[in-house]
Amino acid sequence: MSVAPTIAKRVGEGEPAPNLADYDAARASFTWAGAREALDGLPGGRGLNIAHECVDRHADGPRAGRVALRFLGRHGPAVDVTYADLAAATGRFASLLDGLGVEAGERVAFLLGRRPELYAGVLGALKHRSVACTLFSAFGPEPVRQRLSLGDARVLVTTPAFYERKVAPIRHELPALRHVLLTDVTADGAPAATRALDPLLQEADPGYVTEPTDPEQMALLHFTRGTTGTPKGAVHVHDAIVAHHATGLSALDLHDDDVYWCTAAPGWVTGISYGILAPLAHGVTCVVDEAEFDADRWYGILSEQRVTVWYTAPTAVRMLMKVGPEAMAGHDLSALRFVASVGEPLNPEAVVWGSEHLGMPIHDNWWQTETGGIMISNFRSMPVKPGSMGRPLPGIEAAILRRDDRGGIAVDGSGAAQVVEEPGVEGELALRPGWPSMFRAYLGDPERYARCFVSGWYRTGDLARRDGDGYFWFVGRADDVIKSAGHLIGPFEVESALMEHPAVAEAGVIGIPDPVAGEAVKAFVVLRPGHEPGEALRKELLGHGRRRLGAAVAPREIDFRDELPLTRSRKVMRRLLRARELGLPEGDLSTLERGADDG
Ligand code: AMP
Repeated sequence: MSVAPTIAKRVGEGEPAPNLADYDAARASFTWAGAREALDGLPGGRGLNIAHECVDRHADGPRAGRVALRFLGRHGPAVDVTYADLAAATGRFASLLDGLGVEAGERVAFLLGRRPELYAGVLGALKHRSVACTLFSAFGPEPVRQRLSLGDARVLVTTPAFYERKVAPIRHELPALRHVLLTDVTADGAPAATRALDPLLQEADPGYVTEPTDPEQMALLHFTRGTTGTPKGAVHVHDAIVAHHATGLSALDLHDDDVYWCTAAPGWVTGISYGILAPLAHGVTCVVDEAEFDADRWYGILSEQRVTVWYTAPTAVRMLMKVGPEAMAGHDLSALRFVASVGEPLNPEAVVWGSEHLGMPIHDNWWQTETGGIMISNFRSMPVKPGSMGRPLPGIEAAILRRDDRGGIAVDGSGAAQVVEEPGVEGELALRPGWPSMFRAYLGDPERYARCFVSGWYRTGDLARRDGDGYFWFVGRADDVIKSAGHLIGPFEVESALMEHPAVAEAGVIGIPDPVAGEAVKAFVVLRPGHEPGEALRKELLGHGRRRLGAAVAPREIDFRDELPLTRSRKVMRRLLRARELGLPEGDLSTLERGADDG
């Protein structure tokens, strides 16, 4: 693999020098303590608060009048929010939470698209020292109920339409949810047991003063998926902003006058860590588009907003590739100087497409909900090897651990994990704990958290290899979770929803290859006696999945089976199901009860 083709790059005329100019030197000199010094801390040595680093410190200085967020609504003109405006808006939100009696550390949930209220709300909650938890707006009622319940949310901010469709039907199952605040309604128009957000914000004091904040105070709760059981709530703390800032500098190459656009939805960790926190910590201008993907609109945004740094996802790049270069005609993309992507494997063709059509390769990087920030990256100053995720960030030690034949980590005689030193050998990607944005817990589930660690390493659940030049290459997941259009989907969640249907006795759910989304969700079901397979039932089950789970999680295909391959303990053997579906060798899959039950 060390002979993989590389794309060398030049710094274009008039472009700033890369922040990370010499990879080895940067790694050698980097310390997290040094990275922390790039931030201000709360005035008077009162700790570290994310909202202060992202908003107030800029609002109190020369960046006060700079546009922090430029909202492009579906219709109508752009709405600009300066750092000074954002300080007031987040102050109002923090005062409102205070007035509602919400305590530091309590969860404030958001079920909203990319709207100004979400950005002010998340940062306002952080200012108030309550915990921001964003939910993906395409979730159906069941994933919303699970997350609000597991997260023990006290407050939910959402729209009237989402409330009616996704929350009202399950509200009685959420006794701890004390306040539901709705956008877009007047005080008189709010449905029973909800309140209108806008009038409350108007009355609230914009000048909220942040209380001392311990850097280890819980700040963010991000739900992610395993292959069994309920979603996992990854807990992140205020200190995470040190990593967001440092990685924004080295991996995204943010410079002071950048116009930055991150296309990730704020219901996912990328939409928070890099859609809000990293760029605002750098005081740059962020473009926020409320609409969904549309090639012409996207090229229009890149050109009209003069976007300089663009962080997007492989599925989006593949959609642009599919539309063809004609869609670019008439759009001036000359402002763009850095493009990065994350969330799923970036195929080499997409990297090369970037070179040919955007004038630069797309820089893949790797991280996950638990890591809170970018861990492995193709840096602007480094040659890119198409298909590789790049090299570990300064301050990050990554390794490939050897696996035993039951999916665990092989250990040596002294119980230490075996680190693969030879290039090109596959194993589990692991990281040495200790970076600031690492998750501190799975909320309420210490055992699951403890299982992520083996002899001083954090196990990522991804299979990878490293080449002779130190570049990492993604191989696949070590468990059964599905990545579709960048969304992590737990097969268990989909199986459970299907089994709620009276016709379904058993369900097995896998990811099948999809040229654009990477993977698509496919379900196999065994029917209960008295139910016959057929087109009508297939459609009914597809509709049931969409209603319960939302379109982003529901299966796209359903096949009927007389039986599913089960382990001795009657768990569905998804890998065997997948191997059979895709015509892959079954190997020892049918005889071994494979572990890896909990990703
Ligand atoms: P999430 O926690 O939802 O952000 O998903 C994290 C998972 O997405 C990782 O564990 C990988 O399986 C996958 N992933 C993220 N970035 C990449 C990448 N650059 N290449 C391949 N897979 C990726």
